[in-house]
Amino acid sequence: MSNGSKDSVEAPVDADFPTAPPERGVFANRTLNLRSIQAVGYDMDYTLIHYQVEAWEEAAFRYAQANLIAMGLPVDSFRFDPEAFTIGLTFDLEAGNLLKATRFGYVVRASHGTRMLPFEEQRRQYTETIVELSEPRFKFMNTLFELSRASLWCQLVDAHDRSPIRGVSGYADLYRVVHQALADTHLDGALKGEILADPDRFIDPDPDVVQTLIDQRSSGKNLLLITNSDWAYTQRMMAHTVDPYCPPGSSWRDLFDIVIVSANKPRFFQGNNPIYKVVDEERSLLAPHRGLLEPGSVYFGGNALIVEESIGLSGGQPLYVGDHLFGDVLVTKDVLRWRTALIARELEAEIKAAISFSDRQRELEALMSDKVALDRRQAHLRLAVQHGANGTGRGSSMRRELDQASNRALALDDRIAPLAAEASTLGNPNWGPLMRAGNDKSLFARQVERYADVYTSRVSNLRYETPFGYLRAARGSLPHDGASAG
Ligand SMILES: [Mg+2]
Repeated sequence: MSNGSKDSVEAPVDADFPTAPPERGVFANRTLNLRSIQAVGYDMDYTLIHYQVEAWEEAAFRYAQANLIAMGLPVDSFRFDPEAFTIGLTFDLEAGNLLKATRFGYVVRASHGTRMLPFEEQRRQYTETIVELSEPRFKFMNTLFELSRASLWCQLVDAHDRSPIRGVSGYADLYRVVHQALADTHLDGALKGEILADPDRFIDPDPDVVQTLIDQRSSGKNLLLITNSDWAYTQRMMAHTVDPYCPPGSSWRDLFDIVIVSANKPRFFQGNNPIYKVVDEERSLLAPHRGLLEPGSVYFGGNALIVEESIGLSGGQPLYVGDHLFGDVLVTKDVLRWRTALIARELEAEIKAAISFSDRQRELEALMSDKVALDRRQAHLRLAVQHGANGTGRGSSMRRELDQASNRALALDDRIAPLAAEASTLGNPNWGPLMRAGNDKSLFARQVERYADVYTSRVSNLRYETPFGYLRAARGSLPHDGASAG
């Protein structure tokens, strides 16, 4: 601390500023200078508002289950298990499997329905199949809203295997049925009614979001709320979740220049959807809108080009902050070149788990490095034995040494196996860490790397970086880095 020194009238040292705990850092794939960002568009669900995942998804599951029962499907006994699935998995609609894949699409873990496949069976099924998300066979679990879908589909796969469900042609058809049941759930209003009747049971409030947004606005940035939710739901959820933390006499509306509801993302970012103004906010009455968007107003639909024209970006790029990689972030990146920030709350648990495992991780890495050296030695001994067999005469001593090395390798494997098993279940006992797949990056990590300039666990983490922060990309690691490490 500089306090107490006679020279200490200059700026305070870093220790005087709030620092994010490790799990709440903002991590950069590409360097992002927040100071140059003139406008920030925020998604609402699972971005500005975080839900109690278990309560929300259990409710979605329950309503979709009722829809499926009404359609005549045998789902009465199904139960929602929030721990059974994570985001970042892939549905294999052809095989009835759920998959965890590496960044290259190699499958490292799989379940058929709810049954985890033994390693050999998984390898047999996927030696010649790579997860390629552009194929209709594969569907990626982007957001936490997928947990109820995965739970229903996997249990339906089990049921269909036990006794084929009448009128259903296969696992892909089951997926379609579940998709319909969930879509109806979101449309018919009963689920939203239940949430609005008792929001506290469903939300996980973060008081620091408000100051984060106030800081950004005060620094001159335009803030926008761009949500697919409808106006009635948005208004009540934002008021309930955000207003209690706003300065006296202000509300969530004062945090945003423009509010866009029923935005129909991802089309919002690519299309030229027409835009309507919400002219009567009480009764959700709409009127077609022409011209630029007016600050303080609420709009329905529309598209990103109107936003760009309205806020008058002079060469600067907006930043979009959302939790949906493909819906929100991918299209943004591909079409408009908006900068992107991905919100993934799961990172907090993942980073905490990695920290608590760090001593054993070091031990595991040391053992692996011994194993690499021993593997190399065994390979050379084998070659020496081969040479010996070709008449150099030292074959038998080499063979003895090779036996000893093989025994040491087995002993080493016995020490490595439990540590590696533990590392592979961090975060989720079935599926392991979100961002890793075995020793490699996961397919989810690959999507994040590709489509998110920065990623972090929650919106309020941006507060630690200030509206002026310079978020530098980490230097990427490469397999040959070790060669120059000395
Ligand atoms: Mg969202």
